Amino acid sequence: MKAATFYAPGDIRLEEIPEPAVSAGEVKLRVRNCSTCGTDLKIYRSGHPNMSAPQVMGHEVAGEIVEIGAGVEGWNVGDRVQMIAAVPDGTCVECLSGHPTVCLNQRSTGYQFPGGFAEYLVVPEQVLRVDGLTRIPDTLGFAEASLAEPLACVLNGQELARVGEGDTVVVIGAGPIGCLHVRLARARGAARVLLFDMNAERLAAATALVAPDLALAAGDDPVEAVLEATGGRGADVVITAAASAAAQEQGLRMLARRGRLSLFGGLPKDASTITVDANLVHYRELTIVGVNGSSPAQNKAALELIGSGRVPVADLITHTLPLDRLLDAFAIVERGEAIKVTIEP
Ligand SMILES: [Zn+2]
Repeated sequence: MKAATFYAPGDIRLEEIPEPAVSAGEVKLRVRNCSTCGTDLKIYRSGHPNMSAPQVMGHEVAGEIVEIGAGVEGWNVGDRVQMIAAVPDGTCVECLSGHPTVCLNQRSTGYQFPGGFAEYLVVPEQVLRVDGLTRIPDTLGFAEASLAEPLACVLNGQELARVGEGDTVVVIGAGPIGCLHVRLARARGAARVLLFDMNAERLAAATALVAPDLALAAGDDPVEAVLEATGGRGADVVITAAASAAAQEQGLRMLARRGRLSLFGGLPKDASTITVDANLVHYRELTIVGVNGSSPAQNKAALELIGSGRVPVADLITHTLPLDRLLDAFAIVERGEAIKVTIEP
């Protein structure tokens, strides 16, 4: 079968490899869509500490079951399914406390397990054991379903930041994750959603799709702009969907009293320190939250949000490419020309 294998930073090969065989406790998928993500690009450029090279990449997977291993119950050949990317072990102290997103032994599709940039993929036994495979509603295409994985991460972020009814929410970064944040915040009852991006073209493209209440580009002072737009009060929630230390520091300064800052996007590992005015946090009762992937339950909830139309995603998929053109897809993502690029292996 055709697959895109990561060997080293800058070295992804489209190659013919043997189709994976199903063992007991596993099911095999014909991958229909595997969407690309900023992380794929980061791995391509710089690798990743959790990546076991050589490895088939891709973690936003939707496909069709073509074979079922011994002992697997509840699934049929032909079932249309979406799969988790972050795979908890379900047995560590964090998992047992109900926090699988910070599992001590988390493994990931496309990192330690073979990913979806291939014609076929075997769903590991561990994924089935933690309920990480979900049937796609009949009304939904595979491409849309593949976006349940990033939306699940966005949902995790907004649950941790307690985005809710009446909130003013600022999203910094107008890429696909930023767009999902805008739509989910609205679905959760946010009163106003403001969107920032330094890249004017990307901001314009995102604004046309998700229609924030206010769009602000480079040149605007984001802190001033948010204070002005909120009558000096600030935002209830700021979400940084960009790998920017400056955005994180500005985000803290634009919060209202009791506001929450979600550090959704990570920073480069050699530049991951920011300056926090501790007294601002202290006197204003601010909360700073992190986010690490999503749980199997959040994946199911995300697929349901997409399937029910509460968080539409079809229009965010701006490019569809075959597997042969994966590197073109990465280039499109890198140039900021796309909102979301999906691959059809
Ligand atoms: Zn665990």
